[in-house]
Amino acid sequence: ATATAAAAGPTDRAPDDVGVVHILWINAGLSCDGDSVALTAAMQPSIEEIVTGALPGLPPVAVHWPLIDFECGPVQGADNFVEWFFKADRGEIDPFVLVVEGSIPNEQIKEEGYWCGFGDDPETGQPITTSEWLDRLAPKATAVVAIGTCATYGGIHAMEGNPTGAMGVPDYLGWDWRSKAGLPIVCVPGCPIQPDNFAETLTYLLYQLAGSAPMIPLDDKLRPTWLFGATVHEGCDRGGYYEQGQFASAYGTPECLVRLGCWGPVVKCNVTKRGWINGIGGCPNVGGICIGCTMPGFPDKFMPFMDAPPGSHVSAGASSAYGAAIRRLRAITSKTLDKEPKWRRTGRRLTTGYRS
Ligand code: SF4
Ligand code: SF4
Ligand code: SF4
Repeated sequence: ATATAAAAGPTDRAPDDVGVVHILWINAGLSCDGDSVALTAAMQPSIEEIVTGALPGLPPVAVHWPLIDFECGPVQGADNFVEWFFKADRGEIDPFVLVVEGSIPNEQIKEEGYWCGFGDDPETGQPITTSEWLDRLAPKATAVVAIGTCATYGGIHAMEGNPTGAMGVPDYLGWDWRSKAGLPIVCVPGCPIQPDNFAETLTYLLYQLAGSAPMIPLDDKLRPTWLFGATVHEGCDRGGYYEQGQFASAYGTPECLVRLGCWGPVVKCNVTKRGWINGIGGCPNVGGICIGCTMPGFPDKFMPFMDAPPGSHVSAGASSAYGAAIRRLRAITSKTLDKEPKWRRTGRRLTTGYRS
């Protein structure tokens, strides 16, 4: 009756057996569900490998995720999707990992109504707000994971001028928040996430819960260090053009895109190294400017998106001057290297320099 069963066959593993790790997924922050959709493209590992226990040493998991779950139903009771969240609230399933998708609106800034909710309160028949679920479940979760830039840092819904007061999970729970197991909030930003970045992080956490991996290494913005330690620029296929001062003035050319608005030199994201699906893609590699979608300052600090970043005028200007000189010198060297050595020829005389 869970995603485990959905993938592995009907109820061949009771979800509340000892040792089963439940993954409770709330996609009802202010969200477009893009991260759930992106995750279906993960390959290292794939969702199927995680939920069917195909990876050695991974604990059995029961995934309660609206995107793939057979169950549905918004009210408490019976055998429906949202009942798992009530069970977690009552302390009946443990351990569980709480995954949050979408930013958290501020429900305190208005007199009536609600910004977003998930399931109904059986007492009142009214929706339970997403922030109330966080209040209820975060203290009981073994780990809390924020997926996508909305859930991690606020993202698009948290732009200046928004009416909801939206924020990321760390803004809501506190950046120093720790789970009952001592884990910080784990943030996997991206709009949407790079699929394997999230699948890998979830797998790491499951291994950690199984006792076979050390504490997940996170940076000061709660990102896994091994995924967000390098810039887009450091992995970009077009980096050589930047260094040689060759910049595109229109799309559809192979040169560096900085003058078209690429923020890659200052953005922490690995898609230029990792690709998007199965190693293919990665924004600038395939012709798209980097708009900084993984960054806490996104989107406000990167707008207007299609303008060249202010700092790029200096660095790209310097690279243009330096690159033009370097290219001329390289052209001379390249011309020399493009010819075979002169002793490779026919005739009766050996001219290789060989000495007997
Ligand atoms: Fe959608 Fe982007 Fe927000 Fe994810 S981070 S929910 S993809 S808007
Ligand atoms: Fe750097 Fe962007 Fe140019 Fe790639 S396209 S080399 S990331 S500035
Ligand atoms: Fe987002 Fe830039 Fe990474 Fe593309 S390269 S996913 S725009 S941060």
